[in-house]
Amino acid sequence: MGDYNTSPNAARKFNILERVTQMGKSRIKVECPFCGTRFWAYIWSISGGGKKCENKKCGAKHGSSGIAYPVVGRENSGAV
Ligand SMILES: [Zn+2]
Repeated sequence: MGDYNTSPNAARKFNILERVTQMGKSRIKVECPFCGTRFWAYIWSISGGGKKCENKKCGAKHGSSGIAYPVVGRENSGAV
């Protein structure tokens, strides 16, 4: 539980759809490469521990390198 599959086979690049800077804080709208859910994430939360997909059934972690890692056992959830 809470473990991510960080193997290169499981990792997927995620798309950044929009980027907004307000009050000195940047946030981006990302599209989860596993389930297609779109959500906003602050840059600091991405570059800190990584931002989890807002779809609770997915929960993939989106990191600063532009790569998302799935929760172990959910590698193919809503696969594209
Ligand atoms: Zn997702």
